[in-house]
Amino acid sequence: MNCSEQTEKNTCGEKAVEYETLQIAKTRSVCPMCETYAEENASKQIAILSCEGACLRGEISRQAANLICFNLAAEKTVRICLGGAFTKDTGQRNLVRNAPRVIAIEGCFINCASRMMEGAIPELKPEVIIADRLYEFDKKLFSVNQMSTPEIVKHANTVAEKVIQLFEN
Ligand code: SF4
Repeated sequence: MNCSEQTEKNTCGEKAVEYETLQIAKTRSVCPMCETYAEENASKQIAILSCEGACLRGEISRQAANLICFNLAAEKTVRICLGGAFTKDTGQRNLVRNAPRVIAIEGCFINCASRMMEGAIPELKPEVIIADRLYEFDKKLFSVNQMSTPEIVKHANTVAEKVIQLFEN
């Protein structure tokens, strides 16, 4: 069964989205370095989310996001701390909320980063990039120890360069 088959359709033939409701404990803790980072990057045009998954696909997504934001397009992008943006309404979430453009790089079709942030900011409409469709590899691999570091870096570069091409559009 593929992903689309798992999604029921409503009476209009549109995909019906089901939701689960979570309770996230609020925190009064604030990271001053994070808030300073958010202030300093508030004028960036593009907020970059990554799913940050611990598996191979998430690692490649994470590295691609870092390459974009700190190397290839640092002047126009800001790297979002997904956990901070999702779990508390402070600077990181404001970066996502206020950015003219939000790009979510997802390790795979589960789309964790965009689904998380759409839960926190319902009006959000991120552009979703499913990273593992952008490079060639053995799809049966799952964990980071199943691929060499140079190959992970190579795939992350491939994803980053393809995402950068979006900036031209
Ligand atoms: S999108 Fe895929 S790789 Fe990323 S955290 Fe979710 S399940 Fe893991």
